[in-house]
Amino acid sequence: MKEMVERIKELYPKPTVELKFSNSFELLVALIISARCTDKRTNIITVELFKHYPTPNDMANAPTEEIDKIISSCSMHNTKSKNLKALSDILVKDFNSEVPKNLDELTKLPGVGRKTANILLSMAYGIPAIGVDTHVKRLAYRLGISKSEKPEEIEEDIKKVIPKEDWIVFYTGLILHGRRVCKAKKPNCDECQLKDICPKIGVK
Ligand code: SF4
Repeated sequence: MKEMVERIKELYPKPTVELKFSNSFELLVALIISARCTDKRTNIITVELFKHYPTPNDMANAPTEEIDKIISSCSMHNTKSKNLKALSDILVKDFNSEVPKNLDELTKLPGVGRKTANILLSMAYGIPAIGVDTHVKRLAYRLGISKSEKPEEIEEDIKKVIPKEDWIVFYTGLILHGRRVCKAKKPNCDECQLKDICPKIGVK
């Protein structure tokens, strides 16, 4: 496991998400829009959205239909536009227009689940956390870290074997490795830098 962490760190040394953002509010909005939407499309949408509504106060005061119009090219835009307005309103009223820095408060916001909250905490604030998306789930299984289907259990299984200081670089590395090498349908084991230490669980 130690070797696995070192190799992931070597391959993907800088923890990163492929969403464009310049502050915690922008990342929160981008994460909500990116659910079932590509990062590329999300980035096109958010450039426009932040031009109109750069702060929680702007978004809270915007007509839902206007938000919806701007984000209409992503899936579930009706629900997302309502959530964006509602959560902005809560941020203004209850959090002095700041995005909270803890999991409990974040997951009470409309449209914010555990994965979104963990990615937000780690990428916006540098707080050790593990965001379990579809790539992390698949790689944790193939690498022999977790057999669970449940994101919360996968998160715990990763935490048991990876030192806390490496949580962020490890899970963001798994996301990138899953996108580039260990793809869902056809993992490229021949070219993979982990091939000699990976148990390749479930890979035919
Ligand atoms: S060796 Fe294959 S299964 Fe293991 S991480 Fe690499 S691509 Fe994925």
